[in-house]
Amino acid sequence: MEAVFAGYEQRLATLKSSTNPFAGGIAWVEGELVPLAEARIPLMDQGFLRSDLTYDVPAIWDGRFFRLDDHLDRLEKSCAKLRLRSPLDGEAVRASLCEMAARSGIRDAFVCLIVTRGLKAVRGNRPADLVNNLYMFLSPYVWVVPPEMQRSGAPAIVTRTVRRTPPGAFDPTVKNLQWGDFTRGLLEAQDRDAIYPILPDGDGNITEGAGYNIVLVKDGVLHTPERGVLEGVTRKTVMEIAAARGIEVRLEHVPVDLAYHCDELFFCTTAAGVMPVTTLDGRPVGGGQVGPVTRQIWEAYWDLHYDPTLSFPIDYH
Ligand code: PLP
Repeated sequence: MEAVFAGYEQRLATLKSSTNPFAGGIAWVEGELVPLAEARIPLMDQGFLRSDLTYDVPAIWDGRFFRLDDHLDRLEKSCAKLRLRSPLDGEAVRASLCEMAARSGIRDAFVCLIVTRGLKAVRGNRPADLVNNLYMFLSPYVWVVPPEMQRSGAPAIVTRTVRRTPPGAFDPTVKNLQWGDFTRGLLEAQDRDAIYPILPDGDGNITEGAGYNIVLVKDGVLHTPERGVLEGVTRKTVMEIAAARGIEVRLEHVPVDLAYHCDELFFCTTAAGVMPVTTLDGRPVGGGQVGPVTRQIWEAYWDLHYDPTLSFPIDYH
């Protein structure tokens, strides 16, 4: 863990001392590059007014794009499900993102692509006749669970006041910003002296949390929900790491009860990787320390960021 964080801290210090106007973040809006803090969206965009949009978040780590194609594939599938079309194709998006990284000098980045319905609503219009909008930005890397907390593990709760929006209401495999359920979960977590909510499905199973998938470890086996969740790229990487090490993964319904009796628990997301959780509802998970399986997967996850089959270097000119 320490080597990964030390390298990152060093790069962050260099970025912070940069005088590049894009060092704090860079946005692409209608083909123009602007500092992130100055980027604006039109008020009438249905993405803003109706959350009629989809998005995706790849990351750049140590100057390399990680699994960009997985994210662009998922974005394309999400667009198809919502009858949206990105105004730029995958190749143009890829080129623009690399250019934005180079122009900003940001070597560890949170990268966000948002495709919205655009200025006209679906009501009264055929989706095929509408011009959709694309917004893209890069900001310095975002940590859902910050490094100092990853060392000891994060505090989580299983929410009691809110369940995850069911797949019949909104398909969670479409990455979306309809965060009403997650926001309620985040508020409940604060009320209960924790930070991270785990939302149940209303039928006694866990789903996911506010921007992350959930994995439990019980007797050396990984358990993660197959339904009612985003099919996370980080979780996919975790499952590949497990498969390569002969660790069994069960993708099935995961009862809430198992969360209270598991040995280890972790979240996963692009914006922070593998995040150990060591308390649940105020009680220790397993031994209350970051467990050995989580630790092993954590290390392998960050090592893979240098694997040329999963990442490629950005040309910073
Ligand atoms: N689940 C939700 C609801 C998310 O918003 C995210 C990412 O933001 C994830 C899971 C993790 O997905 P990924 O690993 O592809 O970043």
